[in-house]
Amino acid sequence: MSRLHLQAERHAVEKLGWLRAAVLGANDGTLSTGSLIVGVASSHATRDSIFIAGLSALVAGALSMAAGEYVSVSSQADSERADIDREKHELMTDWDGEVAELAGIYRERGLDADLAQKVALVLMKHDALGAHARDELGLSEMTAARPLQAAFASATAFSSGALLPVLAAVLTPAAWVSWSVSVISVIALAILGVVGAVAGGAPLLRPALRVTFWGVIAMLVTSGIGHLFGV
Ligand SMILES: [Zn+2]
Repeated sequence: MSRLHLQAERHAVEKLGWLRAAVLGANDGTLSTGSLIVGVASSHATRDSIFIAGLSALVAGALSMAAGEYVSVSSQADSERADIDREKHELMTDWDGEVAELAGIYRERGLDADLAQKVALVLMKHDALGAHARDELGLSEMTAARPLQAAFASATAFSSGALLPVLAAVLTPAAWVSWSVSVISVIALAILGVVGAVAGGAPLLRPALRVTFWGVIAMLVTSGIGHLFGV
């Protein structure tokens, strides 16, 4: 396989991983906001309260997703930075040891000892830290953890998933809200399930059925709670 082809393939994998994360976020948004609206609507709440509940669920969910993602990606970025700092220090204090270390990595990848030593020397003369970051730590510009970007992406994914049930609640007469929101949410979950399966290269039917099933269960449970405690 050509190097170009391998690179293109790796890009595809990274893009799809990103798409999968987005689908999961949207899934969360639809499921939690949809079932919350169904619960509130089943308690015979007014249209205004239904709308405010839905909007609050959207905003609170998006913020909590963003915060969670920010914290987790930040700590990943911290540990990457610590790795790089340690590497810098080792390069300053033990150059020969670092050459040997990198040569060892290239030998493991199949180069013979002479060539591995030569490659390690040439690459380290060109950009020692870059070579160690890439080939020893497995870090690159492309994989570097970006907390803000990750936080924004997951908040966006959640909000777009949550927007559908909120719109359904706004656009249907109050008496029909729990039905319309349930139906729209379950359809959206089924579509997201299919998209997620395509992104993951998995067969389509089972994941779609699974999210649809749990979507229906969530709507039934919250609608039951709404009826139980509604006035
Ligand atoms: Zn090193």
